[in-house]
Amino acid sequence: MEELCADFVVIGSGPAGQKAAIQAAKFGKSVIVIEKDAHPGGASLNSGTIPSKSLREAILDLTDFYKHSFYAQNRTLKEVSINDLNFRLNKVLEEQRKMLIRQFEKNGILLLHGNAAFEDAGHLLIEGSSNYRITADFFLIATGSKPRNPTNVPFDNEKILDSTRLLSIDHVPKTLIVLGGGIIGSEYASFFAALGTEVTVIDKREHLLPLLDTEIGMHLQKALTDIGLKVLGRKEVDEISREGDHVKVTFKDGGEQEAEMLLYALGREANVDDLRIENVGISLNRAGFVPVNALFQTVVPNIYAAGDVIGGPALAATSMEQGRLAARHAFGAQTHHFPTFYPIGIYTIPEISSCGYTENQLKELGFRYEIGRAYYYEIARNLIVGNDPGMFKILFHADTLEILGIHIIGRAATEVIHIGQVAMSFNARIDYFIDQVFNYPTYAEGYRIAALNGFNKIRHKK
Ligand SMILES: Cc1cc2nc3c(=O)[nH]c(=O)nc-3n(C[C@H](O)[C@H](O)[C@H](O)COP(=O)(O)OP(=O)(O)OC[C@H]3O[C@@H](n4cnc5c(N)ncnc54)[C@H](O)[C@@H]3O)c2cc1C
Repeated sequence: MEELCADFVVIGSGPAGQKAAIQAAKFGKSVIVIEKDAHPGGASLNSGTIPSKSLREAILDLTDFYKHSFYAQNRTLKEVSINDLNFRLNKVLEEQRKMLIRQFEKNGILLLHGNAAFEDAGHLLIEGSSNYRITADFFLIATGSKPRNPTNVPFDNEKILDSTRLLSIDHVPKTLIVLGGGIIGSEYASFFAALGTEVTVIDKREHLLPLLDTEIGMHLQKALTDIGLKVLGRKEVDEISREGDHVKVTFKDGGEQEAEMLLYALGREANVDDLRIENVGISLNRAGFVPVNALFQTVVPNIYAAGDVIGGPALAATSMEQGRLAARHAFGAQTHHFPTFYPIGIYTIPEISSCGYTENQLKELGFRYEIGRAYYYEIARNLIVGNDPGMFKILFHADTLEILGIHIIGRAATEVIHIGQVAMSFNARIDYFIDQVFNYPTYAEGYRIAALNGFNKIRHKK
């Protein structure tokens, strides 16, 4: 076994681990990243964010999804093969992996392959094609999460799939059941519906994505219904079984649903199985994640944890910032708390992004608020590009006019949200958007239209 020494050891090469490692390297520290998978990049690069978003883009292009509003009255679907979809996916993954390796090399970060396990709070054992014992001052647990695989679900890599297994299917199914209307389930459900698959989403709640502002959720439901997606809400699953070349779901109320494939998208759990955190006195919280303080320290002060392994929001975007902040704190650099408001991007078709409070939250908190809305049909850019459904909804304080929440559904939502996010971080008032000139025609102009709509309501009330 080879003995190594470093200032900072990062376990896991996903978004949290990458940004933490690079930040520590920028401080001139010696950094080692341990990755147990053959490919670095974590779930984000290999089975989550990047593959799913590459598939989404391939589906939109190959089905001519956005051309239909101008060039076809009835949506006639182009047949798209799994090879067509994978062509783009593999190209993106290859490029991203190369870029990641280059970044590590450029910053002098040593990437070791193997499974990491704690010996004690100062030592890590790595088991792989070569074995190492590493001594370090600081450690970051950035081991991410994996799909929850209950033992009573007969996963088989062919018909009964989780979000990782889904990436290996050999054809596009004619029918698909998606169990779980959360972000991952809703995104994949909309992708397959856009491909022409008959998709049924099953959830014990009534609507998809209950975290959304209700109005945006209703907009989504309508857009998804328009592309043929069905939602079966308030259903409790009793059993999932394979029946020949089909999958059968039996409900507790006695009903049944069959499809060619099933995507099980009911939650993810922390990747800590082989890490031996018990050797350093760390135990999981009730939700099954590694508990940390606001500075991302575990109960052992020199061992930090960031990303999916600590639980929600469990996004690549937030994981990156958590990892960076952890490394900054470890090496005594000026740092700040994780931002209260950050954007959430949901890449359903149509996409959604939001930042700040929903209308229901404002009601519960007793805020006096007003709403500015802009519908996509009012935005010139949208008419030029394809007349797709969508809306901007800006919530602001009825007295101070401060912006409290921004919710956008429709094309470019995940990009234009950042304008609102920046404005919110400076405590901007709704009239900020009125007093600015926006490029025309752009989707961003929706901010101005929504601001005028909301501001005029206040003026008329006065
Ligand atoms: C289908 C899907 C779509 C998603 N879409 C988005 C999106 O659009 N936008 C977004 O922001 N987020 C998205 N996410 C979430 C995002 O992928 C995760 O939040 C992110 O990957 C978490 O990063 P991480 O660094 O914490 O962990 P991960 O990316 O999971 O990386 C952890 C790494 O640690 C390694 N590891 C684990 N245990 C050990 C060990 N003992 N030794 C060595 N290595 C180990 C693993 O092999 C893995 O490579 C999506 C997720 C999924 C599943």
